[in-house]
Amino acid sequence: MSSNGDIRIPARLPLLLTYEGVLLPGSTMRISVDTARNMQLVKSRLLKGTSLKSTIIGVIPNSRDPEHDTEELPTLHGTGTAGLAVQVVGSNWPKPHYTLLITGLCRFRVIQLLRDRPFPMGEVQQLDKLEQYTADCHGELGELSKRFYQAAVQLVGMLDISVPVVAKLRRLLDSLPRETLPDVLTSMIQASNKEKLEVLDAVSLEERFKKTLPLLTRQIEGLKLLQKTRKPRLDDDKRVVPVRRGGVFPGGQFSIEDDGEEEDSDDVALLEKRVRTANMPEAALRVCLKELKRLKKMPQSMPEYALTRNYLELMVELPWSKSTTDCLDIRAARALLDSDHYAMEKLKRRVLEYLAVRQLRSALKGPILCFVGPPGVGKTSVGRSIARTLGREFHRIALGGVCDQSDIRGHRRTYVGSMPGRIINGLKAVGVNNPVFLLDEVDKLSKSLQGDPAAALLEVLDPEQNHSFTDHYLNVPFDLSQVLFIATANTTATIPPALLDRMEVLQVPGYTQEEKVEIAHRHLIPHQLEQHGLTPQQVQIPQDTTLDIIGRYTREAGVRSLERKYGAICRAVAVKVAEGHKAAKPGASTKGEQSTGTEAGDQEKKSGALGDLALPPEMPIVIDRQALKDILGPPVFEMEVSERLTLPGVAIGLAWTPLGGEIMFVEASRMEGDGQLTLTGQLGDVMKESAHLAISWLRSNAKTYQLTNMAGGADPLEGTDVHLHFPAGAVTKDGPSAGVTIVTCLASLFSGRLVRSDVAMTGEITLRGLVLPVGGIKDKVLAAHRAGISRIILPKRNEKDLEEIPAHVRTHLEFVAASSLDEVLNAAFDGGFCGTQPSHLPPALVSKL
Ligand code: ADP
Repeated sequence: MSSNGDIRIPARLPLLLTYEGVLLPGSTMRISVDTARNMQLVKSRLLKGTSLKSTIIGVIPNSRDPEHDTEELPTLHGTGTAGLAVQVVGSNWPKPHYTLLITGLCRFRVIQLLRDRPFPMGEVQQLDKLEQYTADCHGELGELSKRFYQAAVQLVGMLDISVPVVAKLRRLLDSLPRETLPDVLTSMIQASNKEKLEVLDAVSLEERFKKTLPLLTRQIEGLKLLQKTRKPRLDDDKRVVPVRRGGVFPGGQFSIEDDGEEEDSDDVALLEKRVRTANMPEAALRVCLKELKRLKKMPQSMPEYALTRNYLELMVELPWSKSTTDCLDIRAARALLDSDHYAMEKLKRRVLEYLAVRQLRSALKGPILCFVGPPGVGKTSVGRSIARTLGREFHRIALGGVCDQSDIRGHRRTYVGSMPGRIINGLKAVGVNNPVFLLDEVDKLSKSLQGDPAAALLEVLDPEQNHSFTDHYLNVPFDLSQVLFIATANTTATIPPALLDRMEVLQVPGYTQEEKVEIAHRHLIPHQLEQHGLTPQQVQIPQDTTLDIIGRYTREAGVRSLERKYGAICRAVAVKVAEGHKAAKPGASTKGEQSTGTEAGDQEKKSGALGDLALPPEMPIVIDRQALKDILGPPVFEMEVSERLTLPGVAIGLAWTPLGGEIMFVEASRMEGDGQLTLTGQLGDVMKESAHLAISWLRSNAKTYQLTNMAGGADPLEGTDVHLHFPAGAVTKDGPSAGVTIVTCLASLFSGRLVRSDVAMTGEITLRGLVLPVGGIKDKVLAAHRAGISRIILPKRNEKDLEEIPAHVRTHLEFVAASSLDEVLNAAFDGGFCGTQPSHLPPALVSKL
């Protein structure tokens, strides 16, 4: 760019009318040419064949819409800019047009229009040449020019100098004569066409400085604001605002072409910077740099570009060396565990021991804790509390149904749609390398053709290997040794043995009714109220209601559906409260006062408690039995146990399932036949064997117990078919512990006597009539207690397990520890079951603990 002083323009110029943008001296601009007059001008004055003739033309801004560019020449704007076309590109799409690249040289004034067809020609007078300006000029002009220069330097200082446009501008600032600066900068900053037109019209230099200085200041202020809002993100690398196309400079108005490449290379450079500052280990860094190198050479349109980029983005986001500091204080941990969880003393004690050892050794090698118990007993929430006590991040990885090892270990990057596994994803999510990972439901992993996820998990959990866990997607080792893993499961039976071997199993048994009431009132109800935006002043749930929900609506080992029921109650109440706010009638009711439990009064029950819930908001809504029925529907478990034991041939057994203990009815019937035994009710093999054992034992002792067949003969099976059924549920039942129940049930059938309705039993039997110990005593006892059983027959060798049963449950129950089937039968029937020779049988050991 040269000083205007050197330019001499012809006295006659062809005139190009522009409709968008204003060309100013010292800048370059793209102009689209498609009107008939302008096309003519380009064809005849700028092109020689297809090549460019360098000719100076006059560019005059025109405010009229080109659509209205009719035959008649519009009134011309008085001033224009003489420009030199440096490029002409023609195209026929979407309609014939040329694109000119024109550099402005100086202002001119149209003195006279010489002709207007086929394009206008004018006699012109060159401006911008008379006022010569020297840098050391004093006075107002000198002052103005100095301020303008300083503002320009400030503006450029705020831009990212690594962008070539900006770098070039920085250089130009010092080499350009100062009088050209207003024009050059105005064409670059954001200014409206009207403002630019004013600058074009400002022929006197002083006026031009005055017009442009406010525009410059405005741009600086705008940038400052922009930087302030972006500050937090930019802090780390001290970048100033990046210049994007159409951002700081309006598109196409500046002479230096920015075709997008810079932006991408800028992005890749940023990525490289992030790679270098991600603090990754040597090996990972090497891989990343290699990938970066590939990325730089790849065209963006290649599908692999996106893959590689995603990979690198993940690599920089992984917490290679970011961790939280543990803040473990055992006393605080104990307080926190206690305040988060009621009961589960044994588990809490073990967790504290575990944490204490961690504190002392500050190393994490050791067994992985695995909480095993029915759903809803708080396994996950204890895991969460552990993370809180340590001050660590918590992340739950659900493993239920995972059958593909790449779920754990990721897919190789050669796969379409490959992803990292859940462990790496989890680390990315928490953003630190020492979180607490809860591996939920490890017992529900399954195998498939895609490999065994348990094997992959082994590598994750093994402290000898997991410091270099290699996810297939990452393909570089990641150190997992700082991660604290906790597993949960419903049963150990289906956990692969190798995996189980790595873990320390902590049983979390179900809760007793009393524990549930406490948990409900201390934790579940307040939690649900809060979740639904209710206060204890708005709703009261008396203990009796809780007992009702526990006994008649849920019957589970944990407290999950109990919590759900409270959720349902809260929703119903929330509706009432919301309605009450609207339609609170002052005299609506005094019902809110009678609020203590199910004894709230028959009158209220009759009127339908929920119907009356639209009380004035300050009255608490009391959930009594009637309200419960309105909200939750009729009770799910109504049938009392005793109702089912009205015929001979029914006995209650105790079963253990992964969902907790359960009572199980065993029913038998007989009919004429040829001694067949039929079994129904989804039984496993062991159960069937127990049934055969029971029959054999009873046949061999039929005489002693005076058991008969249908005809009254001594062999119970002679001329008789027996059908044994285990009702309730499609759950497959297996295990030997139903032995004593089958014997009792059949003894009842063959003797015609009723089994006591308050007795439940468990125990394995032998052919000789001995009772062997079984597992799951605590869960079974709790289930019996839930069902309202008062006497429990169990194997003598299981007596020691009774210590685990909470005292308040034990006081409600009578335990009979039996070592032989005689003792079992004696305890199961009113007045004993001694047949003809009661005298020589040892008395059943009845212990009331
Ligand atoms: P799990 O993982 O064993 O299936 P969760 O941890 O999801 O069970 O527990 C279900 C709900 O019961 C949670 O809201 C939890 O807070 C609550 N809960 C379970 N046990 C207790 C307890 N002992 N004290 C307080 N809340 C409990």
